[in-house]
This record gives sequence, C-alpha cells and structure tokens, in this order.
Amino acid sequence: LLEVSGLVKSFGDNVVLNGVSFAVDPGKVTCLIGPSGSGKTTVLRCLNGLETPDAGVLAFSDGGRYDFSQAPSGRAAKAERAALRDRSAMVFQHHNLFPHLTVIQNVIEGPVRARGIAKDAAVAEAERLLERVGLSQKRDAFPHELSGGQQQRVGIVRALALRPDLLLFDEPTSALDPELVGEVLLVLKELAEEGWTMVIVTHELGFARQVADQVVFFDEGVIVERGHPAEMFAAPQNARTRRFLDRLL
Ligand code: ATP
Repeated sequence: LLEVSGLVKSFGDNVVLNGVSFAVDPGKVTCLIGPSGSGKTTVLRCLNGLETPDAGVLAFSDGGRYDFSQAPSGRAAKAERAALRDRSAMVFQHHNLFPHLTVIQNVIEGPVRARGIAKDAAVAEAERLLERVGLSQKRDAFPHELSGGQQQRVGIVRALALRPDLLLFDEPTSALDPELVGEVLLVLKELAEEGWTMVIVTHELGFARQVADQVVFFDEGVIVERGHPAEMFAAPQNARTRRFLDRLL
C-alpha cells in the first residue's frame, strides 16, 4: 500500500529520523516499537502530513507519490502534506474529541467538513460504526460523560468515518487506566481482522505480538530491525533490539 523511503527529519540540530525506509502492506498491521525519543511518533506525523520531512519519498501503490527530497518550496510541501492528510486518519494518545460536541457530532465533523459527505449519509455511517464498537447508546453523550476507554473508542470511530487508506495510531492506550486498555486493544484487533491497514506506535509488546504482521524496531532515528513479531521477539538479531526486548518482555 505504501513504501516509505529514506525519510529524514531534523528539529534544529536534532536529527530525529535519519533515513527511515519500510513498506506497509495492504490489510496488514505494522507496529512501530522502540525506546522513548527514537522517532516513532515523528514517523507517524510525517505519514499523516503533520510534519514536513526534510527528505524522503512516500509512494502509495495507487500511484500517489510524495517526494520531499527535492527540497520542495513551502507551498509544494504544503500541497503534498494536505494530500497525505486525506489518505490517512490518526488516532492520538489523547483522543482529542471536541468537548462541546456530542459523540455523533464529533464523528460526523470530519466526513462532513473535510470530505464533503452529505450529513444524512455521515450520520448513518457514524451510527453504524458506533454500534460496531458498542457505543450506540452514547450517541448523544458529551465526551466528559464517557470513560477514557469509551472516549478512545469514539476517537477510533472518528478516524474510521473518514474511510482512510491508512489508519495511524499513536500509543492509543498509553493514556488509559490499565483496566480500560483491554477494550481499546480489542477494537484494534477486530479492525485488524477486518483488513484495515494500520500503523501503530505502541509500548504494548504483548499486543504487538498478537496483532502485528510486521514489527519495526527504532532506535535513535533509524530502523534497527524489522520482521514478524513471532520471530523478532523470540530471536532478535540485533543486540540493541535484544536489550530493548529483554527489558520489556
Ligand atoms: P515516545 O515513545 O516517547 O513517544 P518517540 O519514539 O515517539 O518517543 P518522537 O516523539 O518521534 O519519539 O521524538 C523523537 C525526538 O524528536 C525527541 O528527541 C523529541 O524531543 C524530538 N521532537 C519531536 N517533535 C519535536 C518538535 N516539534 N520540535 C522539536 N523536537 C521535537
């Protein structure tokens, strides 16, 4: 679905991504793991057009190609980023729901405003998706009336409603109380089974082991190792991967 090649990103003197390349296969789950500050979130933000890479190419299998290596002018980079934003939807660590809008209003906001979908159709689709994650009865509730896990599930529905090619998750469970983590991971698992293409930054290695088709291990802005979790977790090839996994598994 997407080939990421040679992604480079610095903030001032801090080289955060130093030539990152990997492929995201359609209908597969890629988990990005690695120590804090290794650049995982920055990769997601580049995929989603929230950051402008200094160099690198994002090539989609349908022909969409976004090349940041030619030092594009500010305006060109802005157009590329807007196009990237249309292809993906991101679920953040904190759900970022609009506090003054109800659940259903939160979900239809993007489809109606950003995608130009008719309101009736957006509401019907939102109701279907809320039912999918067991939140039909919360349709008219406000975010503060929901638990953290419920809010995060609404955040996921909001991303699904945009019908993106690519779903991006930035540590979707790390802001939740431990007893609420399971319900969100369950939704992610179901989405994986339905064939959504997902890239997930996670510290939940047990989850990555169960769900990921590919795990990509980052350290200091480079990919140190990638592979299927069953193989990588059982027998990491690189000493840095081994040290990281030893601490967490
Ligand atoms: P974590 O697991 O803690 O979320 P991460 O692997 O996702 O870490 P990033 O959030 O991508 O790491 O950050 C990588 C580095 O980039 C860090 O050193 C961070 O301080 C720096 N960084 C990220 N965003 C910015 C920014 N907008 N301005 C300056 N530096 C930034």
